[in-house]
This record gives sequence, structure tokens and C-alpha cells, in this order.
Amino acid sequence: MCRVPELRKTTDEKRVQPAGEYVLYWMTSARRTRYNFSLERAIEHSRALSKPLLVFEPLRIDYPWAAPRFHRFVIEGMQDQARAFADAGVTYFPFVERHEGEGSGLLEALASRACVVVTDLFPCSFYPRMIDAARLRIQVTLETVDSNGLMPVAGVDRHYSTAHSFRRLLQRELPTQLLTLPLAEPLSRLPRVPAAVVPPECLRRHPAVTADEFRDPGPLLTELHIDHEVSTVGLRGGERSGRIRLETFLHERLSRYAEARNHPEDPVTSGLSPWLHFGHLASAEVFARIIQIEDWDSSRLAQRASGSRAGWWGMSEAAEGYLDQLITWRELGFNLCDRVPHYDQFESLPDWARRTLEEHEGDTRTPSYRLQVFENAETHDPLWNAAQVQLRREGYIHNYLRMLWGKKVLHWASSPREAFEILVELNNKYALDGRDPNSYSAIGWIFGRFDRAWGPERPIFGKVRYMSSENTARKVRVRGYIRSYAE
Ligand SMILES: Cc1cc2nc3c(=O)[nH]c(=O)nc-3n(C[C@H](O)[C@H](O)[C@H](O)COP(=O)(O)OP(=O)(O)OC[C@H]3O[C@@H](n4cnc5c(N)ncnc54)[C@H](O)[C@@H]3O)c2cc1C
Repeated sequence: MCRVPELRKTTDEKRVQPAGEYVLYWMTSARRTRYNFSLERAIEHSRALSKPLLVFEPLRIDYPWAAPRFHRFVIEGMQDQARAFADAGVTYFPFVERHEGEGSGLLEALASRACVVVTDLFPCSFYPRMIDAARLRIQVTLETVDSNGLMPVAGVDRHYSTAHSFRRLLQRELPTQLLTLPLAEPLSRLPRVPAAVVPPECLRRHPAVTADEFRDPGPLLTELHIDHEVSTVGLRGGERSGRIRLETFLHERLSRYAEARNHPEDPVTSGLSPWLHFGHLASAEVFARIIQIEDWDSSRLAQRASGSRAGWWGMSEAAEGYLDQLITWRELGFNLCDRVPHYDQFESLPDWARRTLEEHEGDTRTPSYRLQVFENAETHDPLWNAAQVQLRREGYIHNYLRMLWGKKVLHWASSPREAFEILVELNNKYALDGRDPNSYSAIGWIFGRFDRAWGPERPIFGKVRYMSSENTARKVRVRGYIRSYAE
């Protein structure tokens, strides 16, 4: 039976080759074994064809901002997958490219023996181009499958420019989408067939990550030409640590989320964005755990799709507040990247925001800083510097301070365009959850995206919402935070 919804699949004109040796799952962004529609779809093919599954998870060396911080997180994820796939009897081929171009030809070689190739859809960064290029080189059908959120990316017919209108769409559509969430344990549906064999010539030319390298990825990372300035952080990647963090959040923090989510000194937010970004954890799994804890079923949904933030789910205030971030705001980012060309550039901002910022482009900036001063946390503002130090050191800034962090770059950079570029650079270079649809949607928010015009009109910001460190310090406690990150 085919469970994976049509809206989540994109296929091509080529043929499935029943005589192939295996079904190939090319795992690129949904890097997990649970709640994964792509894996589920690959297993559907395996069952229909009675062919084994081969999972190929590569990590290229040349992606933008490649650094030990992100590489290590992905390799730790691979270690979890290696264990889970071995337990399930699935052949798993984790491959880390050691020099540029080393992996070229590998996907085609694996695909040449496959019945069909399944891969992940991720509408951001280099992924769409990479998949289009692969499609030209592969002889069998290549299916992309969307496991990104609760709402299929293709189920949203246009770009939504406000969270309110997007929420209203979700409130109309989710009751249907919730009927088909991905399976928690797709590996339980594997057919009983002998395991796939990785073609020996592929392994000879492209050795898989070894058990020693999984135990200690340090030497492997040292050998790679990636940005060693961006060092590893204390967080462990992978499904297992993501799940532990999720449970800690659900049991120790979620109940305080509604009233305390803006306080950086006593954080009650989940901290799950890196695991969501690398696909180690599915938002569907987070959702499934929340409805268990809330003892919820769809009979509690409100009848009317009003777009209101509270009251639609029929859950506790804390759970509704959290789901609004996890679903509305997170998936609004996927909609942006899917529907708005050049979402990563200043020019893609809404007209009103671009116009007002351009009208104030000539305003004097005092102080005015270049990238290097921001990057080195050398501004005059101790709160801003503390946030930047936290980003460099830990790959993270609490959401409330992250908004201030972004607004002040707009305030102090020499132009709004340069501010946009600086934010993309710093966010994506250092943040574990960077290079994500939410990187671009949230950076855009700094410049008015998804927001409305505010008065009074101010220098530099025009009608774009303003924030100041003084106001932030009045609203939330930051003294301890500044002390922790003073350099
Ligand atoms: C300038 C700026 C840059 C940002 N860059 C990124 C980024 O690169 N990657 C990223 O994932 N988020 C980014 N955000 C959004 C937000 O700061 C983070 O998602 C959030 O802080 C992650 O922490 P958490 O997991 O504890 O969030 P929680 O409060 O626990 O929220 C749960 C989940 O909802 C999603 N979410 C929460 N807030 C937002 C938001 N404002 N917009 C979109 N999704 C959200 C995240 O997936 C998050 O994990 C940025 C925000 C700003 C202001």
C-alpha cells in the first residue's frame, strides 16, 4: 500500500528498473531513521519490487560555510544511523568527501545498479540545484520526497507574506494533513529479502566512514579543507541526542513556554533547531510527542480557521505557543524558499520594506561598523557583543536576543543591503541551525518581512520595526547573560 501522500512526491519521466539490484535512498537532508517520508517511500518501493534497500548518506566538502562545527554534527548523526540501520539489517553507506570532487560520479555509479532512487526535498541553499543536476545524470527514476513539515511544501499554492494568513491556511488544511503523518518506525516495514551489497568498486574508490572515525571524528575533521575557524561545539548531533533533548524539553520546560520563552537567562525554549535543521529530528515526531502529552485528538480542533494564534488546537497555552513556532513560523520559512526567487537577497523583501529602508539609506549611521567589527564582537554595546560571542562560541543565540542582534546590524551597518549580507554571513557561518529556510525567513523579518509598517518613522529603520538594547534590558534579564559572554 502506498501511504506517502502524492503532494509530498515529485517524480520524473524515467522508468523504474525492476531488474536493478536495490532501491537506493540518497539521504541528503532528512538525516534520520524515524518519521521520515523519504525512507518510508524507499521502503514502499522495496516491498513492491522485493528488492533490498541501500541507504547512501554523503557529506560533501564544498557546501557553503562548511566547517568542523557542522561536519561533526552530521557525522555524529551518521553514527546513530549506522547503528539503527545495522539493527534493521539495512545496508548503509555513510560517505564523507575528503577533498573537493572526490565524490563526483559516486551517486551515478550507485544509481546505475538501482531500480529507483529516492531522495529528500529541501527547498533551500544548494539542494534544489544539486538534485536537478543529479536528475540529468541518473538513468532511472529519481523521486524527491518532502519530509520537512506537517504541511507539504507543494500543498501551499502561493507565497504567504504574513504569519496570520499562513496560519489561517494551516488551520484549513492541517486537519486533512494530520491524517497522514510519517510512520514512527518505517524500518518495521522492510521486506524480507537478502541485504543489498554496495558495489565493491564504489567502496574501493570512495571508502565509507570507518568505525574508528565514528568513535573519534577529530582526525578526519582535521584532515579536511573546511573553515577550521568555526570549531565544534559541545552539542552532539544525531537522532539519539535530539530525542533526549526533546524529552528534557517536554518534561522540564514546555509548561513554562508561554510565559517565559523570551527570557535568555533561564531558557525554556527547546533548543531543537539544529536537530530540526540537519533532519536528525522530524517536526512530526515533536508534534506526535506533544499530542501524547496533551492527551489530544483532532476532536479538540476549533471549527473556524480564524488565523488566531491561540485557541485553534484546543491544547494548553504552552503547547499552542510552542506549536505556533514549530509549525507556523518554521513552515513559513519553507514556503518562502519554495515560492520566492532570491529569498536570500535584500531585493526579495516586500516592496514597502525595501522602499522605506531605501528612503533612509542616506541617513547618518553613528556608529557604523563593517563585517569584521561585528564578527569580532567589538561594537560599543556589551549586550550585542555578548550575543555575538555566544554565537561564535556555542553556535546559538536565544531567539529574543537574536532579534535584537539582527536589528542592531541593520542599525549600524553602512547600508541595509550590507546589513542583510552581514547577517546572512554571520548567521550561516556560526549558527548550528544556519543555512536553513528559517535563516532567510528570520533575517528577512529583521528588515520587515512578515511584519507591518510601524510608526513613528525613524532614521535608518524608516517604518521597519525598531529594537534597542536598553528596551530589551528593561523587558528581560540580561546582566548575567552579559557576564557569561564578556570577553
Ligand atoms: C536574525 C535571526 C536569525 C535566525 N536564524 C535562524 C536560523 O538560521 N535557523 C533557525 O532555525 N532559526 C533561526 N531564527 C529563528 C529562531 O531564532 C530560532 O528558530 C530559535 O531561536 C531556535 O531555538 P529553539 O529551537 O529553542 O526554538 P523554540 O522556541 O523551541 O521553537 C521551536 C522551533 O520552532 C522554530 N522557530 C522558532 N522560532 C522561529 C522563528 N522566529 N522563525 C522560524 N522558525 C522558528 C524552530 O525550528 C525551533 O526549533 C533566527 C531568528 C532571527 C531573529
